[in-house]
Amino acid sequence: MASSPDRICISVNKGNFTAEMLQYTKDFTVSIISQDATFGLFKTFGFCSGKEMDRFKGYEQCIRVSNGTLAVTEGTNGFISAHVEETVDLGSHYLFVATITEKGNFSSTPSTTYGYYHANIKPKPQPKKEETAKKKYVCKICGYEYEGEELPSDFVCPICKHGVSDFEKVTNN
Ligand code: FE
Repeated sequence: MASSPDRICISVNKGNFTAEMLQYTKDFTVSIISQDATFGLFKTFGFCSGKEMDRFKGYEQCIRVSNGTLAVTEGTNGFISAHVEETVDLGSHYLFVATITEKGNFSSTPSTTYGYYHANIKPKPQPKKEETAKKKYVCKICGYEYEGEELPSDFVCPICKHGVSDFEKVTNN
């Protein structure tokens, strides 16, 4: 983030529908996830693409903000709305440089970090008794499980689009 003018930079994987939408609409809102967020919030907004479903359909814990987008009000402590001024191509990602148009604060609950999410929010994998010595590869980013002896070297997580370097081998026995 920067001040005078108030700016924010966000980096978005080109494989995500968000990257496509941002180039088209230029306006967005970042909801800031807090430590009281449930795993359900991550599932709703992180594990599926807006290309396949309208993630806000039937979702009431949100408000419409001044740029017309929606800010999530549950499991978040605030939001930042912005308008894209410049797009930088970083290869796998786009860097969107945007001017902040609105900010809001919902609570004083601390924001969650990636480490906090892994330690406290993401459910721990439960070893299943009947699955003896079955090899699995688990995405360290989102928890997606790939079952099989070998993970193909060009495998990409269907949920979060991360590659094989973000998978770890799990053997239940
Ligand atoms: Fe993943």
